[in-house]
Amino acid sequence: MTRLTRREFLRTSASGAGLALLAAGCGPAIKGDFAPKAGRRVVVIGGGWGGATAAKYLRLADASIEVVLLEPNRQFVSCPFSNLVLSGVRSIDGLTFGYGGLRSHGVRVYHEAASAIEPDVRRVRVGEGYLEYDRLIVSPGVEFQWEQVDGLAAAQDRVLHAWKAGPQTVELARQLAAMPDGGVFVLTVPPVAYRCPPGPYERACQVAWSLKTKKPRSKLVVLDANANVVSKAALFRAAWKDYPNLEYRASNKVVKVDPSTREVTTEFGDRVKYDVINLIPPQRAGTIAVQADLVGADKRWCEVNHLTYESVKHKNVHVIGDSTIG
Ligand SMILES: Cc1cc2nc3c(=O)[nH]c(=O)nc-3n(C[C@H](O)[C@H](O)[C@H](O)COP(=O)(O)OP(=O)(O)OC[C@H]3O[C@@H](n4cnc5c(N)ncnc54)[C@H](O)[C@@H]3O)c2cc1C
Repeated sequence: MTRLTRREFLRTSASGAGLALLAAGCGPAIKGDFAPKAGRRVVVIGGGWGGATAAKYLRLADASIEVVLLEPNRQFVSCPFSNLVLSGVRSIDGLTFGYGGLRSHGVRVYHEAASAIEPDVRRVRVGEGYLEYDRLIVSPGVEFQWEQVDGLAAAQDRVLHAWKAGPQTVELARQLAAMPDGGVFVLTVPPVAYRCPPGPYERACQVAWSLKTKKPRSKLVVLDANANVVSKAALFRAAWKDYPNLEYRASNKVVKVDPSTREVTTEFGDRVKYDVINLIPPQRAGTIAVQADLVGADKRWCEVNHLTYESVKHKNVHVIGDSTIG
C-alpha cells in the first residue's frame, strides 16, 4: 500500500479546478451523483472537531482543493469545556457553533449523513445519491456500546451519558442542580479505550466542587472500570484531596443499571444506589466507520498509518479523530 506524507496528500488532492461554494439548501436534490466532480476533491465525513479542522486547513493549505463536508447537524456543540456546564460555570450556548465559518473558507457543507462508503469506486453514499472523491476523510467520532451494560439500551432517556455535548449536558446539569442536599451522584467511567481519557476525572472535579459549594451533605461516587485513574492520575488524585465528598472506587466496572430502583451493579455484584446517575457507556468508532470495515480486529477502533492517517484497510480513505486508535 502506498504511504503518503501530509505534503503529498495535499498535493495529490489539490490538482484540478475547485468548484464554487454551494451553501446547504441551495444544492440539487440528493439523488444520483448530486454534486458532480470537476477537479480533485476531498470529501469529509463528520463536522466535529476532527472533520471541521481538516476541512478548514485543507482549504487554507490550497484553495484549489474542493472540500465537501457531510454533517447532519446544523450546529456543533463542543465537548471540550462542557464539563463546566454541569457545574454551572459555563453555558451550552457558548459552546455551540454554526458552519458559517467553514463556508467562508470555501468548504461546501451539506447537512446530510453519509450512509455508506464505497472505497472500490471512491464514492460516499448519501440518501439516494452519492458523491465521488479522490480522498476521503472519515471523522465520525464515537458510538456507544449500549448493549455492554444490562438495562442501559432501554433506559437511554433516563440514564444520561452527556458524553456527546448537547441536550444531555443541559439535562444532567439540571438534575445535579435539582438533587437534594444529602443525595448521591454516581459517575461511571468506562473501560479504556474511550473518548477523552481525562474527561471523566475532570467531570468528577466539577461535580465534586459543585456539591461541596452548593450541597455540602451530598456525595459523589466514581465507579471506574479501570484499575486506576487512566490519565494524569497524580494530578487528579492531588486535586481530589480538597474534596472529601468524592469517593473514588477503582476496578468497579458497572455492568447493570436499573432506573426503577435507582441502582447500578458492578461486575463483582456490588450494588450502588444513586439519586443522580451519569453513566458513560463503553465506546467504539462511529457507526459509518464500522460499517465500512475500517475497524481493526477489535471491531471497535480504526487502524491507520500514523504518518498519513490513511486507513490500513482501504486506500485513499483517511480516518482521524476519536474513531482511530490514539
Ligand atoms: C466531556 C468531554 C470533555 C472533553 N474535553 C476535551 C478537551 O478539553 N480537549 C480535547 O482535546 N478534547 C476533549 N474532549 C474530546 C473531544 O471532544 C474529541 O476528541 C473530539 O470531539 C473528537 O473529534 P471527532 O471529529 O473525532 O468527533 P466529534 O467531534 O464527535 O465529531 C463527529 C461528527 O461526526 C458526525 N457524524 C457521525 N456520523 C456521521 C455520518 N455518517 N455522516 C456525517 N457525519 C457524521 C457527528 O454528527 C459529529 O458532528 C472532550 C470530550 C468530552 C466528552
